[in-house]
Amino acid sequence: MSASGASHAPADEVPGLQAALRAELVEWASAGLRRTLSPSDPAARGRDFTSNDVLGLARHPAVVEAARAAIAEHGAGGRASRLLGGGCVLDERVEGAVAAWLGAEAALLFPSGYQANLGLVGALAGRGDALFCDELLHASLIDAARLSRAQVLVHRHGDLEHLSALLTCAPGARRRLVLTEGVFSMDGDLAPLPGLAALCARHDASLLVDEAHAAGVLGPAGAGAWAQAVAQGQIAPELRGRLAARLVTGGKALGVSGACVVGSAALREVLVHRARSFVFTTAPGAAVSGGLLAAIAIVRGAEGDTLRTRLAARVAQLAAGLPHAPAAMHSGPTAPWPVQAGPPPFASTPRRVTPPAAIVPILLGESAAASAAAARLQKAGLDVRAVRPPTVPQGTARLRLVCHADHTEADIAHLLAALSAAGVTQAAASARPAGVTQAAAGARPAGVTQAAASARPAGAGTLVVVGTDTGVGKTVVSALLLRAALLDPAAEATYWKPVQTGSDSDTDTVRELASRASFVEPLHALPLPASPHQAAAAAGVVIELAAVQQRLAELVQRTPGTLVVELAGGLLVPYDERHTQADLLARAGLPVVLVARSGLGTLNHTLLTLEALSARRIDVRALILVGAPHASNRDTLARRSGLLHVLELPLLEQLDGAALDSWLEHHPVAEVLQAD
Ligand code: PMP
Repeated sequence: MSASGASHAPADEVPGLQAALRAELVEWASAGLRRTLSPSDPAARGRDFTSNDVLGLARHPAVVEAARAAIAEHGAGGRASRLLGGGCVLDERVEGAVAAWLGAEAALLFPSGYQANLGLVGALAGRGDALFCDELLHASLIDAARLSRAQVLVHRHGDLEHLSALLTCAPGARRRLVLTEGVFSMDGDLAPLPGLAALCARHDASLLVDEAHAAGVLGPAGAGAWAQAVAQGQIAPELRGRLAARLVTGGKALGVSGACVVGSAALREVLVHRARSFVFTTAPGAAVSGGLLAAIAIVRGAEGDTLRTRLAARVAQLAAGLPHAPAAMHSGPTAPWPVQAGPPPFASTPRRVTPPAAIVPILLGESAAASAAAARLQKAGLDVRAVRPPTVPQGTARLRLVCHADHTEADIAHLLAALSAAGVTQAAASARPAGVTQAAAGARPAGVTQAAASARPAGAGTLVVVGTDTGVGKTVVSALLLRAALLDPAAEATYWKPVQTGSDSDTDTVRELASRASFVEPLHALPLPASPHQAAAAAGVVIELAAVQQRLAELVQRTPGTLVVELAGGLLVPYDERHTQADLLARAGLPVVLVARSGLGTLNHTLLTLEALSARRIDVRALILVGAPHASNRDTLARRSGLLHVLELPLLEQLDGAALDSWLEHHPVAEVLQAD
């Protein structure tokens, strides 16, 4: 394929694969998510409100000259892994300089921040450990957590109450590590570091802080968000030992590339042995270390202070010129990875805040709105980009404005005028104070515009009912969810069973138990009481995953109120020779309620199903155990799953709407429904 993407089909092309790749690109494009690389020189793209070179050091003469001199003296390439003699003497000097800058014992240089996070988390955590992650962590930390094989528990953005609840959920973990960014890369808000440190102390956990967007910008001498919190007396001395590591990236405020993990000498040694992305990669070229040494010297010195002061003034000017300060994000089923259920967020009044660092996001909701706004700003000579899913959660596409120290007052005035001309400031959303739980700004996701909120994000209000097995009670649970949703007389709720097998119709059963709901007929009603793929074969039909997926997507978009989708049998039941129901869920990205039996055998079936759901990043809202209550099974599953909603539904003597309602009176199903 040519670099321009022009299609051609060489004779030796594997047709199936190439067609699939092209089809995928069409899907991205039709969802408004096709990306292109900018071929032009950055200078030709207009005033830079996008890059992370916030202090302008990438072109600083001293940094450029130091990189040039390093190459002249040590050569261009890293030549080999550091453990095989690669790199040069400047690497250790950089590590010493970064450690001294942040007031730590030691540091270890990696070729990039992505690799550093992978190496760090992978070296510290593995099977038997638990990682506690803010839902908005950078992809490098998400990937690191997933690859580590540790248990991963995801809490709502900045929500200490939720994190606190999750920290009690992994009592047997060998290590508990809380992962955060100092300043979040897409929201630009500050992590609640004092609260995180306090929770770590309370739960015997350690803290990893990715300072990518804080280093060089915040704190004394630009030493980052943790250093700022310490300097401001927010972190008591006895809590400081909870900090296990920080990450400083070289490619952002420092203007170069590479990254250092900063911590104890022991940590550095362990990383040298165990961080695979350090051990098995070529050392960065000398220009990286040479450039970094010069950049660190600037950032730590008087010039760094001047640059930070200028940057802060431009951020304040931009924030003041927007009708509301930029908003932080929301959590929910559309977050980039599953968020564990937790206590409901609290409410407070949104107020105006100036972003703490250089990133000023403006939430626009839909991808098309963000792309259109970015295009208008680009026409006005401003290099502004739209950030869209999957980089950010569905329904929270945005303009991510990045202020730079070399922006002038006139640059910001021009940007504000262009935003206004593009109608963007009207859509800027109300903010929450940094560090306050993201959902504090009201019922709808903070930061999502009215327009975006009314075109509700895909999946809001939808729950998929999944079983560990057939005959475990999914249909009754579906009726329960519908009845719970319809307790409000003005509410609407719809039930859909995509594939029905056997002659008993679950749709009819649910209709009897929740008659006020609306019903959509199954896409396939197959008479053989067997797995969908067998029943389909017997009926001479094929269940097309894509068709089920498309119908589901339509219903999710069009159904008002709550949509309850009941799958057939257990999670991994096949639709055809290649696909299972889990593929449908993984593609749809919808939250599930898992239904299991309460008694003997449930531990294995339920834990296996939860593991399969977690491997596919499917958000589990609740586990409902049907049958004679079994306190020990319930407690074991609650503890091991980390789910806050593990409910028991005994077999009801009289199965009817009244019996379901009286059960609902004593169980928090409304919270399960409202979690989005
Ligand atoms: N962490 C965060 C928070 C980031 O924003 C980034 C880069 N966007 C990285 C890590 C990865 O750093 P690098 O670009 O050096 O790989």
